[in-house]
Amino acid sequence: MSNCNQCEQTARGVCCPITSETKGVCGKNEDVQSLQETLLYGLKGMSAYATHARRLGASDPEVDAFVQEALFLTMTNVNFDVPTTLEYVLECGRMNLKVMKMLDEAHVAVMGKPAPAEVKEGTQAGPGIVVTGHDLLDLKKLLAACEGTAVKVYTHGEMLPAHMYPNLHKHPNLAGHYGGAWQKQLREFDAFPGAILATTNCIQTPRDSYAGRFFTTGAVAAPGATRVKDDSYRTIVDKALALPPCKDEITGKSTVGFHHSVILDKAGAIVDAVKAGKISHFFLIGGCDGAEPGRSYFSDYAAACPSDSFVLTLGCGKFRIRDHSYGTLLGLPRLLDMGQCNDAYGAIVVAVKLAEAFKCTVNDLPLTMVLSWFEQKAVAVLLTLLHLGVKGITLGPKPPAFVSPGVFKVLQDRFDLRLAGTDAKADLARAMGKA
Ligand code: SF4
Ligand code: SF4
Repeated sequence: MSNCNQCEQTARGVCCPITSETKGVCGKNEDVQSLQETLLYGLKGMSAYATHARRLGASDPEVDAFVQEALFLTMTNVNFDVPTTLEYVLECGRMNLKVMKMLDEAHVAVMGKPAPAEVKEGTQAGPGIVVTGHDLLDLKKLLAACEGTAVKVYTHGEMLPAHMYPNLHKHPNLAGHYGGAWQKQLREFDAFPGAILATTNCIQTPRDSYAGRFFTTGAVAAPGATRVKDDSYRTIVDKALALPPCKDEITGKSTVGFHHSVILDKAGAIVDAVKAGKISHFFLIGGCDGAEPGRSYFSDYAAACPSDSFVLTLGCGKFRIRDHSYGTLLGLPRLLDMGQCNDAYGAIVVAVKLAEAFKCTVNDLPLTMVLSWFEQKAVAVLLTLLHLGVKGITLGPKPPAFVSPGVFKVLQDRFDLRLAGTDAKADLARAMGKA
C-alpha cells in the first residue's frame, strides 16, 4: 500500500491510498505507483553519487537529461504503463553505472591510485576531528586546513576507505579511523571529545551534548549544528584546537584498500587458482548497515562462507561482518574490503573481468551477491545490477516496502531476485548448490 498526494485531485484533498484493490483518482494502479517510487528512489541515490562526482569535476549531460525525463515520467497523468516504467527503472540502473564509473575515475584522478593500507583504529593523544559520511573531497580540504597544526583527523563510518587513496593516506594529519557504522553515531560522537564533520547522508540528529561541535557541508544540516560554507574548513580546525584533546586509546588495526584495480592486478593468479580448485566461490556481502536485529543474517552468512572462498565487502555493511576472523587465502585476506557503497562499481568491474577471463557470463561465475540495503543509494546500485542482467541476488534484511507484490514477482521471474531468509547457512548452501 502506498499513498500519493502529488496533485490537486488527490482523494478527499488528503491522499490517494493505492493498493491491490484501489487505484488513485487518476487511475494509477499499485504496480505503476511502485515502479514510479522505485524510479524516484533510484534517481535520489544516483544524484548523491553524481553530486560527489560533480564536485570532483566530472559530470555527464546524458545522465542529467535522463534525470529530468525520468522525473517527468512520474508526474500526474504522464505514464500509466508497467512495461515502459520498468524500462525507465532499468535505464536508471544504466545511468547509475555511468555515474559510479565517473565517480570512481574522479576519485582515482584526484586522490591517487588505491592501494591496501593499514589503518589504526581508535584515537591518539591530542586535538581531534572525526569525519563521517562519504565525501572524500571534504576530507581532502579539511586535511589541507589542518596542515601545520597538531590536529589529528579520523575517518568514521563510510569514510574508512579514504585510507586507500595515497593522496589522503600519506597526509600527516590523517591519523586513523574511529568508530563503526552510521547508526552508532550518537554513542560514539558523544564519547569523542573533539569536533565532528558530517559530509553526506546517514547522519543521526545530533544530541545536544555534541551539537555545538558538529559541523556539516553541502546539503547536510541538522538542528544545532554549524554548516560550513565557502570552504571555511579552518573553522572546524579552530574548534578542535579549543576543545578537550582525545585520549591515547588505540583499539586495533585493520587493512582496507582492495579497490577493483588492486584485485585485478592479481586477476591472473586468481583465475589460475579457480581453475586449480583452490578457490571455490566468491561472495559479495555488503551494502548498507542499520540497527535492526535481522542484519545478523549478513554476519552469519559471511562467517559460514567456506575457507576456500573470498568474501568481498563494501559499504558500511562491512562493519557488521569484519569482526570475525576469516584468515587468508593465496596470501590475501579472505575478507577483502573494496570500499564505499559507490565502490559497488568495483565489484561489477571485477565480476565482468572474471567472466571475460572464464569466457562466460557474470551469472555463470561462482559468485553470489548478498546485499543489505537501507537507503536510496542501495536502490540505485540494485537497479544497476538488474540493468546488467545479474541474477540470483539476495536482498535483505527486509523487502523494500515500495515494491508491490506484482513488481516483485516481475523481478523474481526476470532476475531471480531473492529475499534474505532467516537461515543464512541454508541460503548459503543453496547458493553453492548444496541444498
Ligand atoms: S497523481 Fe493520481 S494517485 Fe497521485 S494524488 Fe494525483 S490523482 Fe492521486
Ligand atoms: S552504505 Fe548506505 S547506510 Fe551505510 S553509510 Fe553509506 S549510504 Fe548510509
